[in-house]
Amino acid sequence: MRTVVRIRFPEKSVSDARAVLDSAGCGADVATMDDVAVLRRVFVEVTLDKADPRVSVLFHLLKQQGKEWGEWHEDRYTEEELDSARLLLMNPTRSAEINGGVHWGMTYDLSEACPACGTGARQTSAAFVDGEDLGELQEHRAGVTTFWHVLVDEGLATDLENTGASGLSFRNVYAIMPDKRQVKLRWKQLCADNTLPRMSPLTTGLGRQRACEVCWRNGYVVTAKAPGRVVYRASDLRGALDVNQTWENMWFAILDPDFKESVLSRPWTIVTPKVRRVFRDAGVTAFEWLPIRVVDTDE
Ligand SMILES: [Zn+2]
Repeated sequence: MRTVVRIRFPEKSVSDARAVLDSAGCGADVATMDDVAVLRRVFVEVTLDKADPRVSVLFHLLKQQGKEWGEWHEDRYTEEELDSARLLLMNPTRSAEINGGVHWGMTYDLSEACPACGTGARQTSAAFVDGEDLGELQEHRAGVTTFWHVLVDEGLATDLENTGASGLSFRNVYAIMPDKRQVKLRWKQLCADNTLPRMSPLTTGLGRQRACEVCWRNGYVVTAKAPGRVVYRASDLRGALDVNQTWENMWFAILDPDFKESVLSRPWTIVTPKVRRVFRDAGVTAFEWLPIRVVDTDE
């Protein structure tokens, strides 16, 4: 594993951008430029190893020029590390994301959910997605809804089933067309039957925003300044299956008296390398895979 820093900043022109990059000694091997003519801005993105001396040179230059920048610290894993992890968190990359969820008719049993925010609700219907948005899934074999329901094409579902993975089940997926027709898609929703206990507080890279003050189970967000390192206590993973979901839910939630207008928080899906291999072999790009860390302490 290596940790990289991604630094993104705007410049007025390509030549301004070049000047900064040249001063910091950053060539095309570590920098990209996105010339957004309509904004009259060139967005520069530099990716460097955390230990690379050019990181501090670049920060110094940007500070000197009074620039604001975005900064993300990320771990990059080798294939061997991913393939030998105890479990992997599936973080959607948004490369294949389709509108879907309660607004399109998905239903949930709220009897064991948080009464204030609905987190922990149990899905009781098939998955429903926006029929006008189907192009988002085209040329992909897996993706997610905006509320992180994991979708796989039928072939991938069969391959996943054939692994004999535990904790795995599937639901049908329907598109709601503009004329309200329901069209069954050749896709399946991958569902996790098991919810893991809470992560260890040693987890980094997750912040909280607008968390529900009743259950404190949602409002998790990915923060930029520390790499996302998800930690579990070894004793909490004894019941882990091949497919699980996290107790923690991303984003906030709003329960509306008209359930269709509600916003539900979304858990992450966490799987074993056996499950990831099927996605990897199918060339799926819809997720980045984050190996979870296991500690033996009671922290
Ligand atoms: Zn709640």
